[in-house]
Amino acid sequence: MPRVFSGVQPSGSLTLGNYLGAMRHFVELQDRAECFYCVVDLHALTVPQDPEELRRNTLAVAALFIAVGLDPARTTLFVQSHVPAHAELGWLLQCIAHFGELGRMTQFKEKSEGKESVSVGLFTYPTLMAADILLYDADLVPVGEDQKQHLELTRDLAQRFNQRYGPTFTVPEPAIAQVGARIMSLQNPRRKMSKSDPDPNGYITLLDPPDAVRKKIGRAVTDAGREVRYDEEEKPGISNLLQIYSLLSGEPIPALEERYAGKGYGQFKSDLADVVVAALEPIQRRYHELMNSGTLEDVLAEGAARAQAVAGPKLMEIRQRMGLLDPR
Ligand code: ATP
Ligand code: MG
Repeated sequence: MPRVFSGVQPSGSLTLGNYLGAMRHFVELQDRAECFYCVVDLHALTVPQDPEELRRNTLAVAALFIAVGLDPARTTLFVQSHVPAHAELGWLLQCIAHFGELGRMTQFKEKSEGKESVSVGLFTYPTLMAADILLYDADLVPVGEDQKQHLELTRDLAQRFNQRYGPTFTVPEPAIAQVGARIMSLQNPRRKMSKSDPDPNGYITLLDPPDAVRKKIGRAVTDAGREVRYDEEEKPGISNLLQIYSLLSGEPIPALEERYAGKGYGQFKSDLADVVVAALEPIQRRYHELMNSGTLEDVLAEGAARAQAVAGPKLMEIRQRMGLLDPR
């Protein structure tokens, strides 16, 4: 059975982008792979976080993993910082990665743009992400389109390490969906939807109440004209909304274009809001049950133990290959 690893940062509330681009594939994969899904809290620290909020968001992401359909009996769900091997291999890989290749990462350029100062962690973050994946010898990494470049770096680091120290790591393949891998901001359809966007109108979170969903979709930037038609170049705003509508309702985009022919944006947006609200309702119900159940911490402790059982021996092997003296 192939091994799968992926992570989500507790850097805010999970968005429709996280769900459509990544998490719904996590769920599909659990039937045909051995899956490890991680709340990557160390990654969230690369930008300033309020400590209380970070703790809350970490539990919330874990609850949402389960609420969207991940089954902790079959799938290992855990928090990155609970398995210290991630941080340790992160350091070791920083010593394998080149300064220049990290400098080419577009996410670093985007996230640091216009900031007066950024953390060193934001710069080295892709090496920690590589550590997350390589510790588990993952074959497949389901991610959104924006993570493609980091996955390529992960593959390069694995190959470089294997060449230098002998075969150690599985070289992972990205699993990027054909559709939904790049959901765009509702306020700027040329930028991806991000949970750390300072403007909450840019994203819909999985926990937004119905009235917030309706307001955000109502305010979503649309394009000139009034035709509901898929055209990423001419109509990026409407194309993004069509994609969300189609993915959540299961209806093909051409069928939607036909249904809304001559009807204008208003009706389309109002129906889309109904579709989103209906899709979120069962997720939110399960989320609140879980947050009140008092069982989440146990699930995460069990997940960390299962993850540690894989990551611990792997780290020992890596340490030996690199020439670190075994502790007695
Ligand atoms: P941040 O803004 O803090 O980086 P994020 O919304 O980008 O948050 P991440 O935790 O970085 O979320 O990413 C989790 C997963 O969701 C990754 O696999 C990523 O590729 C995917 N993802 C993020 N944004 C989108 C999007 N707009 N469309 C599709 N997939 C996305
Ligand atoms: Mg991100």
